[in-house]
Amino acid sequence: MSIRHLPDHLINQIAAGEVVERPAAVVKELVENSIDAGASAIQIDLINGGKSSIVIADNGKGMSKDDLSKALERHATSKLPNDDLVNIDFLGFRGEALPSIASVSRLHIKTYDQDDQSAWQIQVINGNKQSVSPASHHEGTTITVSDLFSTTPARLKFLKSDRAEYGAIKDIITRMALCNPHISFKLTHNNEIKLSYSGQQGDFFDQYKGRIHDILGKEFIENSFLFENKKEGIHLYGYASLPSLNRATSQYQYMFVNGRAVKDKLLYGVIRAAYMDVLHSGRHPTVTLYLNLPNEDVDVNVHPGKAEVRFRDAAYIRGLIISTLKQALMNESQKTSSTLSSQTLQKLNHANYNPLPLSRGGSRAVPKSYAYNNHNLAEKAQEFYQPLEQSQNQILPSARYEEIPQEDQNVDFPLGAARAQIHENYIIAQSEDGLVIVDQHAAHERLVYEKLKKQIDENNIITQALLVPEIVDLDDTEIDLLNVHKSTFEKYGIGFDEFGSGSIAIQSLPSLLGEKLNVQSLIKDIIDEIKEFGTAEKIEKTIHEKLSSIACYRSIRSGRRMNADEMNMLLRDMEKTQKSGHCNHGRPTYIKFDLKDIERLFGRR
Ligand code: ADP
Ligand code: MG
Repeated sequence: MSIRHLPDHLINQIAAGEVVERPAAVVKELVENSIDAGASAIQIDLINGGKSSIVIADNGKGMSKDDLSKALERHATSKLPNDDLVNIDFLGFRGEALPSIASVSRLHIKTYDQDDQSAWQIQVINGNKQSVSPASHHEGTTITVSDLFSTTPARLKFLKSDRAEYGAIKDIITRMALCNPHISFKLTHNNEIKLSYSGQQGDFFDQYKGRIHDILGKEFIENSFLFENKKEGIHLYGYASLPSLNRATSQYQYMFVNGRAVKDKLLYGVIRAAYMDVLHSGRHPTVTLYLNLPNEDVDVNVHPGKAEVRFRDAAYIRGLIISTLKQALMNESQKTSSTLSSQTLQKLNHANYNPLPLSRGGSRAVPKSYAYNNHNLAEKAQEFYQPLEQSQNQILPSARYEEIPQEDQNVDFPLGAARAQIHENYIIAQSEDGLVIVDQHAAHERLVYEKLKKQIDENNIITQALLVPEIVDLDDTEIDLLNVHKSTFEKYGIGFDEFGSGSIAIQSLPSLLGEKLNVQSLIKDIIDEIKEFGTAEKIEKTIHEKLSSIACYRSIRSGRRMNADEMNMLLRDMEKTQKSGHCNHGRPTYIKFDLKDIERLFGRR
């Protein structure tokens, strides 16, 4: 067989395999074109998950008659005026999308030429480009893609259900909308409106916040924080959830590099690293992250769908994002999740409960017929409302009240003064303007962990020499493994020597771990994990995780009774400690209720 040049329609179909593998990819290319054309409103109408028809209408600058015809030629683009492949200011630049889409569908473009005040259309049927003809169209460009892949049945077979294809399109529109808050987006599927976001106005961050609110909802807005860093031409910003608002997958992490939605492994890893000490592995924060950097510092040309990017200095970018997020998390951590307190308040509010109006004297009028959960409240009330003198010193089961000296009220402190401990785990504190409930176990976990981390970071692990060294039996490869990483173990306060053949003697351990530790199982656990993933970084992480989980386990278990001084000491310690708002697993360590809200609950406001 001799070599031949492939005909254009085949070349386009082959390219289409890369550029437009499914309806969502078509939508992405076309919406990108609309954004590049300066549109401020884009509407996407789909039929049957985009398989039967995709219509994209924009109000962008449109095309001239001449350009319309050229737009369908391969490698024809208006976006590389200076042949500069580095400084790309548009989302497109390959000049491949339209000819590729046209080769695997019926394509119809209508456009309005603003300069010439005329409207034009072109159609491609079965790969044959018709000539440009006048049209009636009043603004921007409308592109209709019908019967996608009907001429390439092999490709059609790989498409998923309408619902799945629609889902992928919705995800893409969501991402594009998050990244372009000033543009209105409307998406319909089978004539039903599915998304409708109006263009945001106002300051830079107000625009983003407004759009993020539309897409991710109020809960996210109330439980997230803004992070920002500007450095050497790099602008990083975004919103990230407090650790307590977490999800089972990383699906709710939206990342954008120079205006492009990306799903870049490096960036997912960076977010994981930033939340490492505040979130259980396996839980994921919700994040919108925008990274804008000089074009020469990033290559967007590595992936045909442009989902992945390559940074010139990946380590620098990684470090920058991690430190920015960590810093912001630290600043925020003193705030605790408002979801919990507001959810709780809502629950109380909705429990069939309507506060009764106060009678003129200030006491509550309880009508006989007032029903509360089918019980008669008036009778119930009788059971509970004992005369004050009798109930004053009565201590309810498992609630303890500690007398606190008048002069030492501590209410000025953010977490207030400890008033009681209930159910042997919850500290009730009174602050100047509210009520604080502390989960003492979660709080203590966090404190111990932060202390341990501080010691590690400062390379100043306080160790305790074991009076009687603990002998651990291991095989030769395990002992070799330990010896190779001896200095890492020492950094974490674990000192050991070889002890005859086939065993080691543990000489010292971090003192924060406390006594009566099962050293055998600690060492064996670490070795098991090291064997599985032997990189130095991983080993350090394993030791770190093991030590902190032991530290947590050994922290005050719930059930420990504390006196007023101990409780207040814990509160003051929490105020001083970074990230004390959440335990190591992302659960909050305390919840604060505003006095205002409490008063509202009781109908006093
Ligand atoms: P690219 O976007 O890489 O340039 P495309 O094949 O997607 O390649 O588009 C080719 C050209 O058609 C673009 O460069 C642009 O000039 C023009 N074009 C495509 N879509 C639109 C649109 N919605 N509005 C205005 N011009 C468009
Ligand atoms: Mg394009």
